Amino acid sequence: MLNIILMGPPGAGKGTQATRLVDSFHLPHISTGDMFRENIKNGTPLGLQAKAIIEAGGLVPDEVTCAMVKDRLSREDCANGFLLDGFPRTIPQAEELEKIGEELGRKVNLVIDITVPEEELIRRISGRRVCPKCGASYHIDTMKPQKEGICDRCGSEIVQRKDDNAESFRVRLENYYESTQPIADFYKEKGNYRLFDGTIGADNLFREIAKLLEEHK
Ligand code: AMP
Repeated sequence: MLNIILMGPPGAGKGTQATRLVDSFHLPHISTGDMFRENIKNGTPLGLQAKAIIEAGGLVPDEVTCAMVKDRLSREDCANGFLLDGFPRTIPQAEELEKIGEELGRKVNLVIDITVPEEELIRRISGRRVCPKCGASYHIDTMKPQKEGICDRCGSEIVQRKDDNAESFRVRLENYYESTQPIADFYKEKGNYRLFDGTIGADNLFREIAKLLEEHK
């Protein structure tokens, strides 16, 4: 069973790897960032609550985020595995996820962490473009879509995220080092944690992660 968490700083390549992994391993892709963006787009109460926080690069409160994830993990399509992308991001979220997993009989059994040096993260984020429809990621210089401005995967128009500006990115990176990185130790202690070098190229990284997933299937 593949009940996976994918973690790493903004720009590490989580989105790119997640998209490829869920296509290959037929897992539901649970990206809390995508879920929030969808709520913002649809103007839901949750979206209205999260919009300003997200655009400034802050973290949505744990309670709100955990409730959203619990609801999503309860759905039938998560019975045979799932890939969490961007959650948990704080220790309280990681603790809550343990409880949710216990309650639903869907405990996380593999944590994949991707590490990339800060200068490279800055380069990646400043040129990043994303597909608002399917979540696929591109870069204006190094990962261009086949047709300019159009998502290879679903044909939608690709855009720059509002929180991919220098100031919001700085806040997101600080939050990552302060609140999210400590989660690695939480999972290292549980013994189901694996760290990958995120600078070896998207294809190589995918091959390495896919190999690990094959072993855990
Ligand atoms: P992402 O697409 O994963 O980079 O997430 C975009 C933004 O959504 C983050 O910068 C946060 O503002 C918010 N967000 C996503 N996941 C979480 C989470 N687990 N906890 C709190 N806020 C989150």
